[in-house]
Amino acid sequence: MKQTGDLTLIKKINKSIVLEMIRRESPLSRARIAERTGLTKATVSSLVNELIESNLAHEIGMGQSRGGRKPMLLLFNGAAGYAVGVDLGVSYIHAALTDLNGQIIEEIRLQNDASSVETVFAELKDCIHSLIRKAPESPYGVIGIGVGIPGFSDEEGIVLFAPNLGWENVPLQKMLEDEFHIPVVIDNEANVGAVGEMRFGAGREAASLVYVSIGAGIGTGIIIKDELYRGISGFSGEIGHISIHHDGKPCRCGNSGCWELYASEKALLEEARAAYGNPRMKLSELLQFAKQSDPKALRLLEDLGRYIGVGIVNIINVFNPERIIIGGRLAEAADWLKPPLMEIVEKRSLP
Ligand SMILES: [Zn+2]
Repeated sequence: MKQTGDLTLIKKINKSIVLEMIRRESPLSRARIAERTGLTKATVSSLVNELIESNLAHEIGMGQSRGGRKPMLLLFNGAAGYAVGVDLGVSYIHAALTDLNGQIIEEIRLQNDASSVETVFAELKDCIHSLIRKAPESPYGVIGIGVGIPGFSDEEGIVLFAPNLGWENVPLQKMLEDEFHIPVVIDNEANVGAVGEMRFGAGREAASLVYVSIGAGIGTGIIIKDELYRGISGFSGEIGHISIHHDGKPCRCGNSGCWELYASEKALLEEARAAYGNPRMKLSELLQFAKQSDPKALRLLEDLGRYIGVGIVNIINVFNPERIIIGGRLAEAADWLKPPLMEIVEKRSLP
């Protein structure tokens, strides 16, 4: 059925605009909302009253007046419901229960070495069930689940390809919806990381940003004018496969000398395992050595910082973004990575 623009629909659109404004900009008054949206004060008043009745907003007292009656300020009710967010990694699951303001209420971190769909799905399910059980009483309960995956998915939430998990065509969204009976969204982890930083994190003030997620590989999420740029077939941001050595190591993507072969956590661990003669060395162990100022560890991190910098220079020169945000577990090594990274960026990027 095609939706037509009848009064109910228009009201619904206006109501969601008002709600979004309260969510993003509260505390604010009804008069301010009318001013910003161009809706009449009467319309705003009746919509706000409905939002208050449905527990999505509440009044928090009087604000400053610019002459005349002091306005009643409105606040978004972040505790009206909860949501579950999952970072499904290559060897871990990191899941969180948040309120509607993105505030984390509970977190679960699991290591797993298995990558079969059955095993990972079973762990994912347990993880989400235990978070849902911990959700406080609220008018709407847990309203949805979002999962960031290390790969590509389509609009139906089918994981088309997750090379580091070895997954192909896994209908993850449907599997989760059948289990939990609430809306589920699946997307590439760098894309959701970019959106998360824009809405709730280090990118709130920036209209354009590039989020660089460094893990086993390197993924990027690109925000241009407050919107995620997906590219024509949905796999924009594969900057990890920009070649930084034209005749470098061969990559599984078919190219050679790809950035992620030198600047990812995987690349760091390969180097560290060779340098320490320990084929099972973990990132945490390497960082422990770095904390003790072990010269080998410091040199490995310095080299990695430079390699990350080389790719960041390319990103700066291509996108000229307001902000670049680096996420992923290597963020723990920021103190060691940042100086060599910034040195390369300052030396090499366009002014
Ligand atoms: Zn590649």
